[in-house]
Amino acid sequence: MRIAFLGLGIMGRPMASRLVAAGHEVSVWNRTARQHLDGATTAVSPADAAKEADVVWTCVADTAAVERVMFGDDGAEQSLRESAIVVDSSTISPSATVRFAERVNARGVHWVDAPVTGSKIGAENGQLIFIVGGANEPVEYLDPLFKAMGKQVIHIGGTGKGQAAKLGMNLMIALIYEGFAEAFTLVQKLGVEPHKFIELIQASMVRSGVTDYKAPFVLRRDYSPNFPLRLMHKDIHLMLEMAKENRVKLPALETVDEIYELSSEEGWDDLDYAATLALLGKWAGLSGQPK
Ligand code: NAP
Repeated sequence: MRIAFLGLGIMGRPMASRLVAAGHEVSVWNRTARQHLDGATTAVSPADAAKEADVVWTCVADTAAVERVMFGDDGAEQSLRESAIVVDSSTISPSATVRFAERVNARGVHWVDAPVTGSKIGAENGQLIFIVGGANEPVEYLDPLFKAMGKQVIHIGGTGKGQAAKLGMNLMIALIYEGFAEAFTLVQKLGVEPHKFIELIQASMVRSGVTDYKAPFVLRRDYSPNFPLRLMHKDIHLMLEMAKENRVKLPALETVDEIYELSSEEGWDDLDYAATLALLGKWAGLSGQPK
């Protein structure tokens, strides 16, 4: 298949690499640095990447970035072929997703929202899970591409429902990690050795995918970004916006948002969201702050 891949960040680059490795004809575009990808053609704009493409795949930071790469001055929309499919693996607003889909649908183009979970390691190993919203026909057509990058596709429902479910999932990740971070901080203050506490978590019913992934990094105090704090913070804002629009109260998330706000003020936006632990550590007078 001919694929335009827009966005070569932490997630996009390994995803596009796996499409190249699966034998697809890939044209890539990235806004600033890191534009080259072995085995792919480098396009000069999103519109340039998208011409002739059967599928335009986006994986950029946020709703504004998707709007820019799709509908900006040199946006992919300008060269979309009729019956092409746009797939968006960024995590963005479900309501904006519906608007974007309607706009391309008017040109006979499908829109599939396919945010992912699995983080950097999952993207590198082709072990992502795609959380999908859209019509059956394009979703089925995309199956070989999903298989090249991931281990599972969960088709949640119509347009925007993939994004909605992804936000629900990230809400849980933010709260589970915060629960872990608070417990980890308290027990350290009480004199428990960190490795022993992790051993207990991993042996017991509180074990989770979140602690499986994060514990090795936390024990090394390695807050290099797998999922940057600024992106989880962006997702928390999306969740709170959606909650407001739909008259849902999320009191625990509102508190966690404050922790992210203060972590951001510390200058930790580009660290992993695991660095929020360091804020609790700082308040508790523990050593080991991010550099
Ligand atoms: P990232 O490393 O920060 O990459 C962001 C990408 O978006 C870069 O290619 C960046 O281009 C581009 N971008 C940002 N603003 C833009 C704009 N205004 N116009 C055009 N391009 C723009 O982020 P990532 O970790 O790959 O995440 C990408 C998406 O996947 C996000 O929506 C994130 O929430 C989601 N996600 C991430 C993870 C994870 O663990 N990392 C997991 C699941 C989902 P430049 O290189 O020019 O800055």
